[in-house]
Amino acid sequence: MIPVVETRQDRAAFYGSHEWKAKRLEILERDNYECAWCKIEGRVTSIEHSRLDVDHIIELKDRPDLALDSSSLRILCADCHNKRHKRFNYRPRKKENAQSKKFPESFK
Ligand SMILES: [Zn+2]
Repeated sequence: MIPVVETRQDRAAFYGSHEWKAKRLEILERDNYECAWCKIEGRVTSIEHSRLDVDHIIELKDRPDLALDSSSLRILCADCHNKRHKRFNYRPRKKENAQSKKFPESFK
C-alpha cells in the first residue's frame, strides 16, 4: 500500500491509520524505545525523558512508497526531531567542505 501524502490532511490520515500505528509500535519495540540520535552521542533518551517520534529517514513526501518500510524508520526524541527539521534552514554541508578545500593548509 502506497499512501497518498500530498496534503496535510492526507498525512494526518496516514498518521492516524491502523497500519502506521502498528508500524510505529513495531519500530519503538525494535529500537528499544530510545532516540537514535541521542544514542549515537552516548545518551539514552527514552520514553521517561521525552516524547518519542518515529521519523521517516527519507521524508514521507519524497518517498511515500517507503512510508511503512522499517529500514526507513527510526526513533527520534522531541528535541532531536525539532533539530532535524530546523536543519533544512541551513546550507548543506557540501558547501563548507568545498570552501575548506580551497584553502587546505593556510588556515591550519
Ligand atoms: Zn534525541
